[in-house]
Amino acid sequence: MCIFCEIANKNIDSKIVYEDDFCIAFNDVAPAAPTHVLVIPKQHVANVNEASSELLSRIMQAVKEVVKALGISEYRLISNCGESSGQTVFHLHFHILGGKNLGKLCD
Ligand code: AMP
Repeated sequence: MCIFCEIANKNIDSKIVYEDDFCIAFNDVAPAAPTHVLVIPKQHVANVNEASSELLSRIMQAVKEVVKALGISEYRLISNCGESSGQTVFHLHFHILGGKNLGKLCD
């Protein structure tokens, strides 16, 4: 089974920071910034290309709740879509990165 489905089903431990009926958010296991949280839908969808507008809207609502809970108002929100973008887990997720000056987006 998909590793993020396993996390959403609580079969694999993760540091969960937020949960609602549609989404779950947990700390990235290999943080790229002092704050690095992943927000995922509980439903398995590979990436943005496969997600409905309604699901994306639910996830964006969750993102806003997560950053409120984390106490941050400045952050970078990234969703890699496809291998060449850097996507390695093919269950839709949004990275919330913050807690430092993140610099430019790409080299
Ligand atoms: P991406 O490269 O955009 O697909 O991002 C996948 C992210 O999932 C990476 O930042 C990984 O560090 C993270 N990741 C992979 N496995 C786990 C896990 N078991 N718990 C938390 N984060 C994970």
